[in-house]
This record gives sequence, structure tokens and C-alpha cells, in this order.
Amino acid sequence: MTGFITAFVEALTPKGFDNIAVPASNAIVLFILYKSSFSFVSSLSNNAIIAGVVVGLVLAFSGIILKALTWDGAIAGLYFGLVILGLGSWTWGVMYFTFFILGSLATFLGKNKKKSISQEFEKGDTRRDSVQAMVNSVLPAFLAFLVILFRDPIITVIAGGAIAVSLADTLGTEIGALSKFKPRSSIKPWVKTEQGSPGAVSILGLLASVLGAVIIAFSGFGVSFIDNYTVFPTSMWAFIIPVIVGGLVGSYFDSIFACTIQKLNRCTICEKITEKKVHCEVETEYYSGVKWLRNDFVNLFSIIVGAIVSLLLYFIWMF
Ligand SMILES: [Zn+2]
Repeated sequence: MTGFITAFVEALTPKGFDNIAVPASNAIVLFILYKSSFSFVSSLSNNAIIAGVVVGLVLAFSGIILKALTWDGAIAGLYFGLVILGLGSWTWGVMYFTFFILGSLATFLGKNKKKSISQEFEKGDTRRDSVQAMVNSVLPAFLAFLVILFRDPIITVIAGGAIAVSLADTLGTEIGALSKFKPRSSIKPWVKTEQGSPGAVSILGLLASVLGAVIIAFSGFGVSFIDNYTVFPTSMWAFIIPVIVGGLVGSYFDSIFACTIQKLNRCTICEKITEKKVHCEVETEYYSGVKWLRNDFVNLFSIIVGAIVSLLLYFIWMF
């Protein structure tokens, strides 16, 4: 079983990520097998597990066919989704898969319209790959681990905040790119900037982010009613407010990080500032930011920021 998982994870993780991903995913799988006597997994009927896997597979394949996901992105998303569902129960699983579905859908819808803009991003290909899937899943998966050890509602709130950042950021980026108005700089909102430039935010993008955070908060809250296994705050607003605010703050920090600490390059031909390694078919030169800090790390940091905000707000609410 673990041998199979190792080969599987190694096959889908590019660029040295497997050094971390393989032991981590093995630990998770071993842990599920070992602890399944008291985790949520053992209380599910076989039919429910099969239904979950089938639905997940359909979603993953739709993502590939619609060109919203790469193969490895779809497999990684499905894998983490099942870990999060298995350990965190329906409430967690629905929040995660809501992000997975709507994030892929937004990527698909915006794909054609923003082809020219996407050239400015580090990954010219707009499909979501396994590194991006992992960046969005690693904290919820780790928290799903914790919640079966320490059955405290605060862990569900933090996970909700983390997933809310992911959807808020994805919808903000994908839908914001369709804005007809010029965006503004996230650190200097009084300055108008070019569409697609690092750290640019538009009103449309901000509204889409709010929508993303609200959707995650209410999907988690809605499912918690019919979920007997979840660990959920007794007060509705102690969940909803921290998740929405954490999601929004985290996704805004993503835009701030993108134009401050993220590594940015300059095109030697057209002088544009870009995340890309190649622009105008020539290799770009280093311009600003921390040299190892590429966009995937920026996403991960913003998820952590959002999760911390959710945690703090929950504390303030409860005490
Ligand atoms: Zn250029």
C-alpha cells in the first residue's frame, strides 16, 4: 500500500517537491491506516466511500477535459481531497471540493479571455498543476490530521480560513483578470497599474474574492448540520466571521506579497516587470524580491496568514 502510494506521489510531483511530498504523504496514509479504528473513515459505509471516490474521479476528469487542470494537478487535488474528507469528515470534504470545483471552473471560464494577460504570470499555461494543488491542500491536510487527535472546533475554523483564502485568491485572480477597468496596486491603491502586473487588484477581483470566502464559510456551515462526525463551533458566527475575514485578508496578502517579497524579473527587451523567466522570447533578469520566493510560496504564505487571522478572530469571538 505505502509502496504504491510512494510511486504514485513520486510520479505526480515535479521539481524536487517529491522530497517532501513522498514522506509526508506516506506518513499520512500510514497514520490513516493505523488510526482508522477511531477516525471518521471507519464510520463511513463502503457505499459512501465508493460514492466519494467516483464523484472525485468525475470531477478530476472534467477538470482535465475542460483544460482547467493538468493531469498531475487533477490527481493531486483528488488525493488530498480524499485525505481531507477521510480525516476531517463531510464538512471539511465539502469545503475542499467546493474550492476544487469552483477554482477549476473559474480557471476554465476565464481561460480564453485572459490568454494575453496570463503571459505575464510565471506559468504561461493557465491550467492548475500539482504544485498548485499541493500549495492549496497542505495546510488543510495537516489540520485534518490534528483534528482527529485534538477534537477542538478551532481546528475546523482554521482549516475553513485556509480553504477560504484558496478560493478567494483563485476567484480574485481568475475573475479579476476579466475586469474592463485598469487595476490598482495592492500596496498603493491610489496608483493605477497594468492588468496582470504582479500585485494588481481590481474591484471585480475583490468582489470575486469576497464571494469565494463567503461560499466556503457557508458551505462548511451548511454541511455541519447534517455531519455527525465534524468538530464544529457551537456558535454559527464564530465559524462564519473568522473564515470570511481570514479568507479575505489572506487573499489580499497574496497580492501584497506578489509585488513585494516575491521574486520578480525584468524583461531585457520591453522592460516589463514579470514573474516569468522568459519574456519576449528572451530570458529575463532579476529585478526585486527574495530570490527563491516564487509564486507558489507566495500562495502558501498567504494561506498561512489567512489561517492565523481566522484563529485570532475565533479567539476574540470566544473569549
Ligand atoms: Zn518583454
